[in-house]
Amino acid sequence: MVKRKGTPHDAAASNLRGQKTQSAQAFRQILKVIARNMVSPAGILGCSIVLWLATLSIGTAMLMTSRTDAFNHALRNSRNLTLVLERDIERSIDLYDLSLRAVSDGAADSQVMALPANLRDRVLFDRAATAHYMGPMTISAGNGTLIATSDPRSAGRERAAPDLNAAGHLMTPDGLYIGRPVHSSANPAQFAIPLGRSIYRPDGKFLGTVMGSLSMEYFRELTNGLSIGERGSVIVFETDGTLISRLPDSSENIGRNFAQSPIFRRLMTGTEGHFVGTPNLDGVRRLYVYKRLPDLPLIVAVAPAMSTVYAEWWARATWFGALILAFTAIKAAGTWLFVRELRRRQRAEASLERMAHHDPLTGLENRATFDDVLAREWKCARRNEKPLSLLFIDIDRFKSYNDQYGHQAGDVALKSVATRIAACLDRPGDHAARYGGEEFIVVLPDTDTRGAALMAEKIRSAVFNLQIEHRQAPLQMLTVSIGVSTTAVDRVTDASTLLKTADMALYEAKRLGRNCVSIVPQLDTECAA
Ligand code: GH3
Ligand code: MG
Ligand code: MG
Repeated sequence: MVKRKGTPHDAAASNLRGQKTQSAQAFRQILKVIARNMVSPAGILGCSIVLWLATLSIGTAMLMTSRTDAFNHALRNSRNLTLVLERDIERSIDLYDLSLRAVSDGAADSQVMALPANLRDRVLFDRAATAHYMGPMTISAGNGTLIATSDPRSAGRERAAPDLNAAGHLMTPDGLYIGRPVHSSANPAQFAIPLGRSIYRPDGKFLGTVMGSLSMEYFRELTNGLSIGERGSVIVFETDGTLISRLPDSSENIGRNFAQSPIFRRLMTGTEGHFVGTPNLDGVRRLYVYKRLPDLPLIVAVAPAMSTVYAEWWARATWFGALILAFTAIKAAGTWLFVRELRRRQRAEASLERMAHHDPLTGLENRATFDDVLAREWKCARRNEKPLSLLFIDIDRFKSYNDQYGHQAGDVALKSVATRIAACLDRPGDHAARYGGEEFIVVLPDTDTRGAALMAEKIRSAVFNLQIEHRQAPLQMLTVSIGVSTTAVDRVTDASTLLKTADMALYEAKRLGRNCVSIVPQLDTECAA
C-alpha cells in the first residue's frame, strides 16, 4: 500500500478543522456558563425582570399606538362632520343667495319697478325662496326707505340695520352680505342672520339693498342630530368673531363677539386645521377641528371633548393596567416561590456536597476527599517533577483522655486539634484531612523533607501550646506524634507507599515516646519528651 504524502493544502485544511473544533468547544463552554448562571436564583430573577420589562414595554407601545389611533379616529370623524356642515351651509346660503340675486335683478329693472305695487311685488318675490328657515325679503332704497317686502305682515317692523359703507352700499358691494345675528323679525324670541345684496342698475348706479335672513333654527336643526359625544361642541363663527351658533345651546352668547378669545384666534389660523384647547366658556378640554367656508365669512368647528376622544382607550388602558398588575403579582409570587425553592435546594445540595467531602465533627476534609487529593497531587508532583510530602498525625494517649474526661470533652479536644492543624497550613495547595478516629493527615505539595519536617514541628508545637490538660500523658498535656514522608525518598514510588511510610514514621515517633516528629527514611526523630 502506498502512503500518500501530506500536501500543504491538507495541512491547512486540518489546521482549519482544528480551529473550528476549538471555536465550537469555546462556544459550547460559553453556552454552559450562560445556562449555569441562568439557572441560579439571581439568573432566574434577572430573566424574570427582563421578561416582565419586555412585556410591559410591548404593552405600553401597543397602548400608545392605540391612543394615537383613538385621536386620529376622532380627528377623521370630526373632519367628516365639518365637511358635511360646510356643504349644507353653503348649499342653503347659495339657495337663498340665488333668491336675493333674483329679487335684486328685478329691483334693478325700471320696468318692473314701474308696475303697480301689487303686481310689482308678485313679479319681484315670485322666485324668492320660501324655505322654512328663510325669513322674508325687503327692498330698501339707498336712503333706507322701505320700497317693497315679500311679507306685507312684517312691513314696518324694526329690522336690523345692515352695515353700510359711506355710499350706502352693503359692506360687500359685489357679493353676499352676511350680518351679525339679530332677533328674528318673524319671531323676536329667536335669532336670525341678516343676508343681503346691493342693488345696482345695469349702468352701475347704486339703487338700494335687498335684505333677507336665515333663522338660527337652521343651525340648531343642522347640528342637533350630530353625534359628537358627551360634552362635545359644534360652533359656527363669523370671521369677525361673532358667534352664530353653538351646540350645546348657548343662546345668551349668540351674537357675542369672541374675536379676542384664545380659541377663536386659533380657529383663525389657516383655512382649516385642528388643535386641542379649553375654552373659558365651559372649561371643557376639546379637540377642535375647524374649517373656514370658502366664499363665505363663516368658520365651522366640530369639537369633541377629549374625555370622549379617549374614553374607549381609557377603558382599554385601565383593563390592561389591571391585567398587567395581576400578571406582575402572579409572576412575582411565582418567581419568589421558585427562587426560594431553588435557594433551598442549592443550600441542601451544598450541604450534601460538604457532608460528602468533609468530616462533620472537625470540619476538615474526610478520608474519601483525602484519597482524591492525594491521587491528584501525586500525579501533579510527578508531572511537574516536584516533591510531595505527607504528615501522619495521631493524638497521643487519646483513649485515656476519653476515659478520664469523657467522650464529649474528647470531641471538643479533637475539634481544637483539627482547628490548630488547619491554622498551621499557609499555602493554598496544602490539605488537612481527618483520616479516622484521632488521626489526621496533611498533604503538602511542592514541599521537600526539610519543609515537611518544619511543618510537622510547627503543628506539634501548636497542639502542645493549646495547653489541653491530659494528666495521663507524659507531659500532662495533650500532644500529637507526627510521621513525615516525602517523595524525595527512593522507595516511595507510589501514593500508597507515601502513606505507608508516613504511617511507619508515625509508629516510630510513638515508639520513641510520643510528642515527636519522625521522618522517613532516616527516621530522624525529634522528640520534645
Ligand atoms: P496512642 O498514643 O498510641 O495513639 O494511644 P491512643 O489511646 O491515642 O490510641 P488508641 O488507638 O488506642 O485510641 C484511640 C482513641 O481515640 C480511641 C477512641 O476512644 C478515641 N477516638 C477515636 N475517635 C474519636 C472521636 O470521634 N471522638 C472521641 N471523643 N474519641 C475518639
Ligand atoms: Mg491512633
Ligand atoms: Mg493515638
